[in-house]
Amino acid sequence: MLPFKLVYSDDYYLPIGAHVFPAEKYRMIRRRLQEEHIAEPSDFVTPDPASDDEILLVHTPEYVRKLKTGTLSEFEEMQLEVPFSPGLVKAFWLSAGGSILASNLALRDGIAVNVGGGFHHAFPDHGEGFCMIHDVAVGIKRLHREGKLRRAMTVDCDVHDGNGTAAIFPPKSHTGQPLPSAGGVQSSLRPVHAQLRDSSAGELEVFTISMHQANNYPVYKPPSSIDVNLPDGTDDEQYLGWLDQALSSALRQFEPQLLCYIAGADPYREDQLGGLALTIGGLKRRDELVLRVARSRNIPVMITYAGGYARRVEDTVTIHCNTVIAAKEVFERQ
Ligand SMILES: [Zn+2]
Repeated sequence: MLPFKLVYSDDYYLPIGAHVFPAEKYRMIRRRLQEEHIAEPSDFVTPDPASDDEILLVHTPEYVRKLKTGTLSEFEEMQLEVPFSPGLVKAFWLSAGGSILASNLALRDGIAVNVGGGFHHAFPDHGEGFCMIHDVAVGIKRLHREGKLRRAMTVDCDVHDGNGTAAIFPPKSHTGQPLPSAGGVQSSLRPVHAQLRDSSAGELEVFTISMHQANNYPVYKPPSSIDVNLPDGTDDEQYLGWLDQALSSALRQFEPQLLCYIAGADPYREDQLGGLALTIGGLKRRDELVLRVARSRNIPVMITYAGGYARRVEDTVTIHCNTVIAAKEVFERQ
């Protein structure tokens, strides 16, 4: 039995037909985890869909109304890049419910995995790039509404920039100054003392890290608290070096009560929508690095899966299953 819960539903499947997004990956991951005895049936918990009120913590009433009534414009549907259907709306409400549940379980158990979610291209008023609803932001805002959370950090390791996350949680100011020790890392932050001074009680603060390929979707990348703009072909060692620096820099500036790790499988060298060169082993070391850093500082972690478009869908499944194995290894250790 795992020392944490896996939040999952067969209904995470996205009804989008033949598509570069392998909607069947969730069911394949569920099956593989059990077949390979990585997890037992009792490790899985089933989420309820988010309520409309919870979705509205992040998204605009106008956008939610269009989704519920099936009245997106042609342009809005094109931006979403997946065919609209009422079934798709249901699946996204469910994945947001999954991230709410996983966030709560992470606070209880120290770590939880949503075997889905990570839809980081969703904006308050529209969807983009296969992402309709920003499940991670819904989870954060829901916990904040309950008074359980005031400071969250997102660590987005999908190959694509976390533009929706940055739009929902913009950094307080943007200096655009590279950190002295890291030419490719852009920090948007003022000095720590300036941040502490105006952090009023109760207000939600979210520190966002986006590790992404510079030369990839989306064209416009709104600033995160820390952006790591990776060059094409970045390999395991280079990637892990940048990630280590970004995490150290972030945790010097900000003490989160919850770390939301967006563990995209698409920095993989065989990915059809990515241009980095990480190996499957390198991606597992990436997971271990994020999780070890969080564990060593007693920061609860909520994991979501985001993208993964490997030529062989089995590779995407392996990368996502390895994230669970990494969590088991890091969190079982005394
Ligand atoms: Zn991606």
